[in-house]
Amino acid sequence: MGKSTLFNRLTHSRRSIVGDEPGITRDRIYGIVEWAGRHARLVDTGGVLPSEQEFIPAEIFRQARVAFEEAAAIIMVVDGRTELAAPDMELARLLLRLGKPLFLAVNKMDAESLLAQAENFRRLGFKEMLPISAEHGLGIGDLLEAVFAVLPVDDFEPADEEDEPSANEQAWNDNSDEDAPEIPARAPDEVRVAIIGRPNVGKSTLLNALTGTSRAIVSPIAGTTRDAVDELVERDGQKFRFIDTAGIRRKGKTHEMAEKLSVLMARKHLEAADVSLLVIDASAGVLAADATIGGYAHESGRSMVIVVNKWDLVTTRRTDGKPAADRKVFEEQLRYALKFLSYVPIVYVSAAEGQNIGQVFASVVRVAAERQKRVGTGQMNRFIERVDFERAPVPMSRRMRILYMTQAGVAPPTFVLFTDRDVKLHFSYERFLENQIREAFGFEGSPIRFKIRARKPRSQR
Ligand code: GDP
Repeated sequence: MGKSTLFNRLTHSRRSIVGDEPGITRDRIYGIVEWAGRHARLVDTGGVLPSEQEFIPAEIFRQARVAFEEAAAIIMVVDGRTELAAPDMELARLLLRLGKPLFLAVNKMDAESLLAQAENFRRLGFKEMLPISAEHGLGIGDLLEAVFAVLPVDDFEPADEEDEPSANEQAWNDNSDEDAPEIPARAPDEVRVAIIGRPNVGKSTLLNALTGTSRAIVSPIAGTTRDAVDELVERDGQKFRFIDTAGIRRKGKTHEMAEKLSVLMARKHLEAADVSLLVIDASAGVLAADATIGGYAHESGRSMVIVVNKWDLVTTRRTDGKPAADRKVFEEQLRYALKFLSYVPIVYVSAAEGQNIGQVFASVVRVAAERQKRVGTGQMNRFIERVDFERAPVPMSRRMRILYMTQAGVAPPTFVLFTDRDVKLHFSYERFLENQIREAFGFEGSPIRFKIRARKPRSQR
C-alpha cells in the first residue's frame, strides 16, 4: 500500500535500501520526522493485520502492539486504489479501541479524479482522513500538519535546555580550563551488549563462544528489555551483559519470518544496549539486510563492533577450490557496502571454532570507553583553531563560522557548535567536521551527533 514509500518520504530517508527481496524495505522501522522545526519519532510497524495473527509469530505481533501503545498518534495507510477489505476494517476497529489520535492516509491519490474513491474509506470510522500520494509527495504537508497538531509540543524535541553548556561557555569565556586535561574514558562497570544481525550469520554460535570463554556471574537474570532474560558474565574483571539471550537464540520458522524477527529483535535489543555486535556472515558477504540492521544500529546512537563471522569458511575450510579470502580485499568491500559505518572497528572470527573471540571482548571494551569520552572545552577550542574549514566542500549559501564548540554529552558523543549564522549543518560540512574530530580524538565505534546554536543577529540581542 506504499507504507515504505511514505515512511521514506516522511523521514527524508537518505539511505533507502531496496533489496531484491520483498520485505526488506518494510523492515526499516524507525526514523525521525521533522515538520516546521519540530521533531517526532516515526515507527513503521510492518504490515501487521489482525487477521494475519495466526501466521505471525506472537513476538512480532506483540511488538506492533507495543508500538501502538507507545505511540502518541497513529497513521494507518491504505491503498486508495483498492477496495476496502475486511482486514482493513479489523485493523481499524483495533486501532479505534486504543483511544489515540488516529489518521487515515489514503495513498496513491495522485489525480483529482481519484478523490471520490477515497470517500469509500470513510466507512473505517476515522475522523481524520487525508488523501496523499507518497510517491509524488502530495498531501504530505497536510498530513504532517494534522499529526503535529495533536502531538504534545515537547514530544521528542531536541532537549535544548538540558545540554545547555553554560558552565562550559563560562569556562571558555574566562579561559579557566585552558589546561584542563581530557577526562579519561572508561568502560562502564557493566557493558550491555546486543548481538544483532540477519538470520544464520551465527549470532547464537557467537553468543555461546562469548559466554563459554567467560565466567557466568548469575544466569539467567531478569532482562533489561520486556520479558527478556539477560546473561551476565565477567572477563578480565570487566562485566558484560548480553541482552535477551533467549531472543538471540530464537529462530523464525520461515525465512521471511526469521528475517523480520531479526530486525525487530535488533530494534528491541539496541534500546537496552551500550554496544552492538553486528554479525556478518563472511561466506555470504554484505547483503541489503545487513545494511538495514546496521543502519538501524547507527541511528540508535549505540556503539558498534562489526563481527565478520565464519571466517574459516572463506579461508581454512574453503571448499570451492578458490584461494583463501584476503582480509584487506574483504574489508574494502565491506567498507564500501557499509559506508555509513566507517567509524566502526571490524573483527574477524570463527565463532564455531572459537577463533578471535578475545578480540571481540577487547573491541567491546574499547568502543564502550570511547563512547564515554569527554573532551574539555579548552582542548576543543585549540582543536577548532587548528582546523582549516576552508577545505570543507560546502556551498557558499551554507557556509558558517564555528565560533566555538563544546562537547555537551556522551554516549553518544554530542557536540554543540556555536555559529555565526543560523543555517542548517550541510552534509559535507558535517562529514568533514566529523572526520576531523575522529582524527583528533578517536571516538571509535560510536556515532557522533551535532547540534547548532546560532548567534542571534545583533538586532535580536
Ligand atoms: P543465528 O541465526 O544468527 O543465530 O545463526 P546460528 O548461530 O544459528 O548459526 C547458523 C549456522 O551457521 C549454524 O549451522 C552454525 O553452526 C553455523 N556457524 C556459525 N558460526 C560459524 C562459524 O564461525 N563457522 C562456520 N563454519 N559455521 C558457523
